[in-house]
Amino acid sequence: MRAMDEAPGLLESQLVQAAYRNADWWRRTTVNHIERTERVDLNRLRTTISGCLLWLDTCLERPEICEPDLLSAFIQQFARLAGSGGQSRSDHSVVAALDQCINWTEGTGEQAASLYRARAIFFRTRVAESRERLSSLQSALSQAIPGSRDWIGTMVDLSEYYVEISRYRQAVRIFDDIRIDAIPDDVQDRYECATSLCRGVVLFSSFRNITQAETCLARACEMETNISGDDELAGWVARAYRYRGRIAELRGKPATALRLYLRGKAIQENLPMDAVVLGFFHLRIGELLAGHKLLSASRDHLAAGRRFFTAGANFGSGTLQADLGYAALYAAQQRYRDAEKIIQEALRASRRIGFRRGELLCLGYLILLQLRGGHLLRVPVSCAGAALTLWRGELSRNNIVGLLCNMPAMLSLAIRRMSDKWGHKRATERLAMCPCELHEHMEL
Ligand SMILES: [Zn+2]
Repeated sequence: MRAMDEAPGLLESQLVQAAYRNADWWRRTTVNHIERTERVDLNRLRTTISGCLLWLDTCLERPEICEPDLLSAFIQQFARLAGSGGQSRSDHSVVAALDQCINWTEGTGEQAASLYRARAIFFRTRVAESRERLSSLQSALSQAIPGSRDWIGTMVDLSEYYVEISRYRQAVRIFDDIRIDAIPDDVQDRYECATSLCRGVVLFSSFRNITQAETCLARACEMETNISGDDELAGWVARAYRYRGRIAELRGKPATALRLYLRGKAIQENLPMDAVVLGFFHLRIGELLAGHKLLSASRDHLAAGRRFFTAGANFGSGTLQADLGYAALYAAQQRYRDAEKIIQEALRASRRIGFRRGELLCLGYLILLQLRGGHLLRVPVSCAGAALTLWRGELSRNNIVGLLCNMPAMLSLAIRRMSDKWGHKRATERLAMCPCELHEHMEL
């Protein structure tokens, strides 16, 4: 009798325990979570993040049934989502969970490079300059096996970080000591794409040599033929297209710029959802269209960009640049007062988060706006502000002569975005519409 009473309970608990400890079950559920995070709907971003966090807790309770590679893949995916859609109150638990995973992996004697990269991804959108993000990337680089995918990927992440904080020399120096014969044959193409992309981005962002930047970025885009099944490589190619679009804009080729932006966006849309990156694609397209009086289409893209940044809880440069996009749109509509208000707010925000390049951009926009609006008396104040920012930020880190010599290039792009008179005289192409699926083509 007693045996019969106890049997169901015992059986049940044994079954539960067996299932709980079953590696197949763990694998299936983890793969399921990864798939769910890859195609997450923007409205369900935070629910999905909470679900991932719960699953991560389960993994950490039973680390012995986890496969390190699959766990890493899940955590990277999760960090990408959490990094773009985290709520500030869940930040602490995300970081704690990631740290626990890193400790556990290192405890087993395995290298934790991919987990450190995941940790850095999480800090991507927090503030412009982040000690946490830098130290995560440095740990990832020191642990990654030279020549491995993580090693190459970490160098790209690190270079991107240095560009964001305007340390251009460090951004290219990462690749300086690498001997090409140290790169295994099977990753030579990836490495080539990575270095071309990073060099191109640095040359463009520092305005050192736009022509050379163009060549590097075009080289990175040649790898498009190899992107199938390699999401990271595809992401790099998409990014190279985005920068090529900006160069085309600078050269007065708006139709080419739009084509390049849309090509990059299409590649990005086929990848696991990254709200921040998609936000930037829409933002660039929105700004381009605003400068060419395609106001309704511009508004569609700016709104899409802002939606991505907001859903992504982006506290970094994204939201700020989205605001500048709206300022460009208002300027194109001759709503100067609204444009100036939004730029002043963006300026305060970039000072608050220590985003020097953003501050400089805001001041540049402000000067142009004041010139256009005829507020000439206020221009010297803004110029003084710009000089001060240059002194505190960009100039203390970079070559003053190089930056000043290239200021015309930077201003030229800003003018093109802000003005319908000055910017388009040298334009060799006409932009009549945006052919993307976002809008009805009302402006034909
Ligand atoms: Zn469009």
